Amino acid sequence: LLLLVLFPLALIVILSFRLYEEKTKKVELLSDYLSRINTSSDISNLINELVLERRYSYAYSIKKDLDSRAEIELQRPRTDLAIQVLNNKGDAALGQFSQYTFIDGLPGMRSKIDHTSSPEEVMQYFTNIILRLNSLNVIAAGNNQFLKTVFNDLSTQNILSEMATYLGTVRASVYNNLYSKSRDAQLIPQAANMYEIYKSYTKEFLQKANPQAREDFAKINSLQPVTAYLDKTFSRMRTDSQYAAEDWWRLSAETTDGMRSLQQHLLRDVRISMNHLYTVEDGGKDRTLIFLIIALVVVFGIMLYTTQVITQMLTSLNNAAMKISKGATNLKLENVSNDVIGSLGHSILEIDQNSKQIADAADAIGKGNFNVTLLPRSEDDVLTMAIIRMKNNLQRFTVEIEKSKEQFRQVADTAPVMIWMTDNKKLCNFVNEGWIRFTGRKRESELGYGWIEGLHPDDYAHCAEVFNDAFHARDKYYLEYRFRRFDGTYRWLSESGAPRYNSEGVFDGFIGSCIDIHEMKLLEQRKDDFIRMASHELKTPITSIKGYVQLLLSMYREKESGKGTIPEGSVQSSLAVIDKQIVKLTRLMSELLDLSRIDTAKLDLHMIPFDLQALVKETVEDVRLTTRHTIEVNHDGAGKVYGDKDRIAQVLVNLLTNAIKYSPQGSSVKVNVDQHTNGTVSVSVSDKGIGIDLKDQEKIFERFYRVEGKNEQTYPGFGIGLFIASEIIQRHDGMISVGSEKGKGSTFTFTLPSHK
Ligand code: ADP
Repeated sequence: LLLLVLFPLALIVILSFRLYEEKTKKVELLSDYLSRINTSSDISNLINELVLERRYSYAYSIKKDLDSRAEIELQRPRTDLAIQVLNNKGDAALGQFSQYTFIDGLPGMRSKIDHTSSPEEVMQYFTNIILRLNSLNVIAAGNNQFLKTVFNDLSTQNILSEMATYLGTVRASVYNNLYSKSRDAQLIPQAANMYEIYKSYTKEFLQKANPQAREDFAKINSLQPVTAYLDKTFSRMRTDSQYAAEDWWRLSAETTDGMRSLQQHLLRDVRISMNHLYTVEDGGKDRTLIFLIIALVVVFGIMLYTTQVITQMLTSLNNAAMKISKGATNLKLENVSNDVIGSLGHSILEIDQNSKQIADAADAIGKGNFNVTLLPRSEDDVLTMAIIRMKNNLQRFTVEIEKSKEQFRQVADTAPVMIWMTDNKKLCNFVNEGWIRFTGRKRESELGYGWIEGLHPDDYAHCAEVFNDAFHARDKYYLEYRFRRFDGTYRWLSESGAPRYNSEGVFDGFIGSCIDIHEMKLLEQRKDDFIRMASHELKTPITSIKGYVQLLLSMYREKESGKGTIPEGSVQSSLAVIDKQIVKLTRLMSELLDLSRIDTAKLDLHMIPFDLQALVKETVEDVRLTTRHTIEVNHDGAGKVYGDKDRIAQVLVNLLTNAIKYSPQGSSVKVNVDQHTNGTVSVSVSDKGIGIDLKDQEKIFERFYRVEGKNEQTYPGFGIGLFIASEIIQRHDGMISVGSEKGKGSTFTFTLPSHK
């Protein structure tokens, strides 16, 4: 850039020097002319002095009078001074001027004048010098147009000088003639030639002189009468007596003096003009130099400034481009100019803006906002097109992921189990709808460690141990624990957990599901209780039977050995007890048998039509024999039913036994048999016993269910009687139900369709 700048700078420098050189040459030329004009002026001065010396010497050589002599004496030093001036100049152009002009012969001439010389000799000698000096005074104008007017004046004044010289000779001849009439014949023809030369010079003068000079020439004193007289004299070739010699001398001197003065005047003008031109050009030359220096400084300054600005701009553009290349966006470019570089800057800013737009769009896409508008700026905009493709793919994947997530959620939520997940730091990050339904709490309360609140305090330690071990081992586990349900009750849950891994195989936490196994758990407990109880119940009668049998055997052995007798009635009472115990055992055995039949669906019914009322009557009779309770029977003539008579009897026995068992001794039990208008028959057994809590009423028909309580525990039982009864009634398409109030008594009712 600097080299580019240096080239025009060098051109300017070269041109400047050329211009300056040119000016200098012109000024030198002018100075040369000026010195020539000065010399010319000095020559002109010398001519003037010589003209005067010629005049006085001529007059003296004619008259030999004292006046003329005195004038000569006065004039000579003046002439010498003018010669001295020229000699001192040492001007090479003047060369050997004193030889050329015969001036070196002046001293000899002067001494001749002082003694012997003739006026003609004097005149000739001085005129020669003057004419030669005149010829020295010619300055060539050359082709300088601007000096044309000056040179015109210069040559005009030279012509004037010639004119004055020739006229001076002519008037001297005429004076000589007038003064001494004797020489007419010699003088006149010689002077006539001179006059002709004068006239030709006059013509040339009138042609060349400027108007002012012509006007001034016309005004020269006595020019008119002198030339008129001379014309007259040379046309006749003799003088007349119009002028006396001295008058003519005076008059014609006026004319030549006027010419000389005009010539001097013109020369002065020329000098002044030349001087002026020189001053102007010389000053111009300096001004040119100053202007050139200023121009150079300004141009150089502007170039330096421009270079600096451009460099600065380019540097900042470079920095911006470097930043962009390193991936930065949102650049700031200050003072972006309005030129090509500025447009480059704008382009860089545009690139930056585009990068930023794309980066923002990519950022938004990364955050899942797919609504960003991205349009390729041209067909070549591969970056934007790639990002658009990426966006579309990402959007599709996201939709698919969301879909599969939603599917998982739906599956999880509709699953009848409770599902949860943790992250890889054991913190819960998901529970399904089933879980929320179970706990009845807000989802947020369950996340993290929130779910632990629901865990039964007694199960916490075990759960923590199993889960922590499995978590660290990344292993599957199984757990059972109690968990608080929405209603505040703790329910048994079974839980299966397993580690889960993401698509790259990195551990992501645990997933697990829980099932409410509360009922199963209770059933299990009841089953355990039942087995315990059943073995106890079976052992009691057997032990009792064994005891009585051993007693009877020992009594018989003693009797046979004659050692003892068998007390009266003891055998009978013992057998009665044994029988009672066997009945009890049988009932127990048949109940157990029924239970297993129900379980294996082998409870066969022998369905026949029979009279329910009669069956009730018979059964009550049988039961009455075994109890001290009073049993009342009311019936309203209910009809027949179709069913297994023995099984229905078994149900009734069961209800009656319970009514007796769970009510105080001697209290009454009522049995009602009713025929209903809807075509059903019902049998209800009411007691005034301990009653059943509402919450237990529906459960007592379940297998092994026994009401827990201080009172209830005292009664023996397996908790299967009502279960079997309800199974039997259900298989008859009937219904069994209970109505009871704790402490007041219960009424059990079964309904059967009546037989038509
Ligand atoms: P169990 O052999 O224990 O009597 P059941 O199935 O016959 O078994 O009865 C279930 C439970 O129902 C009993 O344990 C008892 O608590 C309750 N129960 C049955 N009948 C009555 C009743 N009449 N009065 C009070 N409680 C009763």
